[in-house]
Amino acid sequence: MNKTFSCEFFPPKTDQGLEKLLTASEILKTEIKPDFFSVTFGAGGSTRERTFQAVTDIASHTGVPTAPHLSCIGSSKDEIREILSRYQQQGIKRLVALRGDMPSGMVTSGELHYANELVTFIREETGDHFHIEVAAYPEFHPIAESPKQDLAYFKQKIDAGADSAITQYFYNVDAYYQFVDDCELLGIDAPIIPGIMPITNYTNLARFSDACGTEIPRWIRKRLQDFHDDTESLKAFGKDVVTDMCQRLLDNGAPGLHFYSMNQTEATLAIWNELEH
Ligand code: FAD
Repeated sequence: MNKTFSCEFFPPKTDQGLEKLLTASEILKTEIKPDFFSVTFGAGGSTRERTFQAVTDIASHTGVPTAPHLSCIGSSKDEIREILSRYQQQGIKRLVALRGDMPSGMVTSGELHYANELVTFIREETGDHFHIEVAAYPEFHPIAESPKQDLAYFKQKIDAGADSAITQYFYNVDAYYQFVDDCELLGIDAPIIPGIMPITNYTNLARFSDACGTEIPRWIRKRLQDFHDDTESLKAFGKDVVTDMCQRLLDNGAPGLHFYSMNQTEATLAIWNELEH
């Protein structure tokens, strides 16, 4: 089976940022020849226009299929219907469907409360038009009731009509394989693509990982801390660790890789160029 490779971006805030992103996406297109790009969406619709703009610009600039992320929390069905219709009109055929997180200060949670409800709604509204990706959490969602319940809810998203899943990033390959095995036991056969976060900075990575429930194994955390201001050595170590993890994933049957590129090319390509794929 062909493996699926993709890169994720966030929507830039300025025209200059968008120009830079178009250049980055062109480079990633040439080097990786990705199956698709994706662009994140601020929950509650906060980046609605900027996500739309980035998706349509990247798709027309590079010719690479580009998937908007779409989260349902804080949005009405009418708002989501309108977004779906605009993407359909633009010929967009792939979506990443999410619940999202409630932005602070927002009081209304919207009409759809979980990602499985969003997937059902998209299928009701648009039939088979979109290839739908959903999120998966090998180390479990930070507020999951229990691992078993989180898996059961993940199955609901697939059963609602999702075609494949992209995982939260992780540095523990065993957690990914255990998750994939558990999914197989539940009868889930949709591809579950590992999300890969390159390591370029310790402080931000540690903060973000604590918030999203990703474990940085102690031996990695300790070494990253030890680099202090030596950014070059930190990046070199991070590249080795993540490249080794990606190679093991691909060699052991992972159906592809999704790079959280953070709108940069260097760290993703440093990994990509050392991989045998
Ligand atoms: P869900 O699958 O709905 O799960 C959320 C929580 O609710 C879990 O704890 C689950 O166990 C529980 N749950 C699920 N279904 C039910 C149910 N029916 N009843 C009760 N409990 C339930 N966030 C953004 O804001 N914008 C983005 O663009 C974005 N992109 C992402 C891309 C990927 C690949 C990943 C992994 C995450 C992304 N996120 C994004 C983060 C994501 O929105 C958050 O992790 C959010 O908290 C959960 O979204 P979800 O779609 O996984 O939710």
